[in-house]
Amino acid sequence: MDFPVIRRKKVNTLQVNLGYKCNQACVHCHVDASPSRTEMMNEYNISLIPEVLKTYRIKTLDITGGAPEMHPLFKELIHKVSKLNVKIIDRSNLTILTEPGYLSLANYLADNEVTIIASLPCYEEKNVDFQRGKDVFKKSIKVLKMLNELGYGKGDKKLELDLVFNPIGANLPPSQYELEKKYKDVLKTNYNVEFDNLLVLANMPIKRFSSFLKQQGKLNEYQSLLQESHNEANLESVMCRDTISVNWEGNLFDCDFNQQLGINEYLHPNTLKDLASGNILFEGKKITVAEHCFGCTAGCGSSCGGALT
Ligand code: SF4
Ligand code: SF4
Repeated sequence: MDFPVIRRKKVNTLQVNLGYKCNQACVHCHVDASPSRTEMMNEYNISLIPEVLKTYRIKTLDITGGAPEMHPLFKELIHKVSKLNVKIIDRSNLTILTEPGYLSLANYLADNEVTIIASLPCYEEKNVDFQRGKDVFKKSIKVLKMLNELGYGKGDKKLELDLVFNPIGANLPPSQYELEKKYKDVLKTNYNVEFDNLLVLANMPIKRFSSFLKQQGKLNEYQSLLQESHNEANLESVMCRDTISVNWEGNLFDCDFNQQLGINEYLHPNTLKDLASGNILFEGKKITVAEHCFGCTAGCGSSCGGALT
């Protein structure tokens, strides 16, 4: 079964990948990020981001990586964009905020009312450490407490703190609503930690997670599960319909997953520079789809904002 044709609506979100450097090297990472990666967006492309937001009147800047905080111009970018009445999202792995050189960054994020979306694939230590590395759970809890003290995660829209769940293995995520209740209960009771929303994401069978499944002989089984669970209703709200994804080199893609696969049939060879000129018409444009797209439409659906239905 081929993935259905889908087309773009108005762009509401600019998602920018600042580079692949990360202080972690998680087993499910779909960008193969690690401490040894050196790819980073250059100063010129960073300077174009506020221009693009203004030109297309985009309301959300979603900053990702790697650990985007490790980009030397991360704070400067936030400073410039914070003047534009744009929602800024930092996709943080949390642990970076405990590393030397980054200890004051949480205060900076709070001062600039940056939304934090952070991965915490389980409320149990052993599962998080299995997927994300030794001691990641303990460090994440420490940072979540620190963010709570700054006012994050307590229902204030200006200091939004969302957590991201993705399954440990080759299965679909459970109901977002039910799991959020469980997360809130366990994290509050056991660690006195609060957060706003739980975003439930399916793992994409690409890059490191695809290799992980292959090693276990489960890649075909997982791909079949995604296809069999395809839900047409999710096509309307898959994130590529109103998001532009930009890689560290400034090239445009329909989403972060297509970016990692290097597929952009309808947006190639456009770059951030073309975007800043305002000459690209997105509404009605075809989106590049492939087998992995079933990861977005399976079951309750999955996007950077969590479940779709
Ligand atoms: S999943 Fe996130 S924290 Fe883990 S290696 Fe990838 S970018 Fe880093
Ligand atoms: S993988 Fe990307 S292009 Fe495919 S449906 Fe999901 S968001 Fe859209």
